[in-house]
Amino acid sequence: MNLVVVGHKDHGKSTLIGRILYDTNSLPKEKIDEIKQRCKALGRKLEFAYICDALEEERKKEMTIDATQVCFRSRKRKYTIIDTPGHIEFLRNMITGATQAEAAILIVDVKDGIKEQTKRHVYLLKLLGIRQVIIAVNKMDLVEYRKVFFDRVKEDVQNYLDEIGLKANKIIPISAYYGENVVRSSKRMKWFNDVPLIKALDSLNEKRKDYCFRFCIQDVYTAQEKKIYVGNVISGEVKKDDKVKISPGDLEAKVVEIVDGNKKINVAKRPHAIGIVLHPELSMGRGFVMYKGCKPKITKSIETVIFSLEKITSNKDYLFCCSTQEILCKVRVKKKINPISLKIEASSELKRNEIGEVELKLKKEAIVENFENVPELGRFVLKEHGKIVAGGTIRSLS
Ligand code: GDP
Repeated sequence: MNLVVVGHKDHGKSTLIGRILYDTNSLPKEKIDEIKQRCKALGRKLEFAYICDALEEERKKEMTIDATQVCFRSRKRKYTIIDTPGHIEFLRNMITGATQAEAAILIVDVKDGIKEQTKRHVYLLKLLGIRQVIIAVNKMDLVEYRKVFFDRVKEDVQNYLDEIGLKANKIIPISAYYGENVVRSSKRMKWFNDVPLIKALDSLNEKRKDYCFRFCIQDVYTAQEKKIYVGNVISGEVKKDDKVKISPGDLEAKVVEIVDGNKKINVAKRPHAIGIVLHPELSMGRGFVMYKGCKPKITKSIETVIFSLEKITSNKDYLFCCSTQEILCKVRVKKKINPISLKIEASSELKRNEIGEVELKLKKEAIVENFENVPELGRFVLKEHGKIVAGGTIRSLS
């Protein structure tokens, strides 16, 4: 399961990650010894934030992709903590689909409470479609593990979540520094009757709910006089001899062959990059979607919320990119949303890093889905001169 850890600076993100890695024995002994030595040289006790920092330093040096991933294992499964070097990079990766977090831990300092940055993060989690959120109210040791302080922060967080329509799976009082309620249940907070953080993570859903077959065509090759439609199964499954349709157009054909590299296979399920041979062969290329069962949505106008990475102006041309589709569009900015006060104001443009309600007017029809059903067809970016300038998710299709 891919996880993202967010929170205001200094609320304890690094410490929590370090603590989790340590308590789940996810680090080699040499690494721990090295960090202990380093802390000793600085005249300090072992600080868990250093584990995280040390990993980050390594990441900067290492060139391999694997080294950028921080992994740990619980009794139930393996978790990968997605690196979030900065707010903007994180967003860019999330909206482009380069990284997909399935769940988030939001960390809030019990003394500091919910800050503006925390609110912005929570709003973005919602916007990006991360529906599984666990809130860790950290540094409980600084308030002598007293329930009243936890309750106050819990209420504030819950109020904000209610306002934006997001539900926390659990809100847990922890001390990342002392490892209370992180991997082990805390003896100092007996008043808290729920599970520690790791068990709460284990209780989240990993599986995406099933949806009808969708296959986004990337390219078409001809081999031995047969056309092979190449792409990714992004939803559902397809079997040899199935009748499938393509969108746009709704023409029907039979799957006569499914190929995976050099092998012929009988069934392909999400996620799987394959080639499909159809009878009869249909005239289509990159951007078309093969489907079975429920019909994909096809539209030239999308009402949605976007997050801007650059200035967005109404009526200018942008390239709408969704899965393998690229279509020219104009954006009509309608309103701007302040993620902190949640105030909405009329506006016809968005500055950098703003959130807005918009209508996208596409030059030709796009095949899209609600994000909850098929994220790959429910997530898009807008490009200008080849650069990503905004992104969002689609949720309001009926
Ligand atoms: P980040 O900026 O969110 O990654 O925060 P850090 O993990 O670097 O922590 C910021 C400071 O808070 C450091 O000095 C940590 O030692 C301290 N800290 C983190 N967690 C706890 C905790 O549970 N209790 C106490 N007392 N201090 C903590």
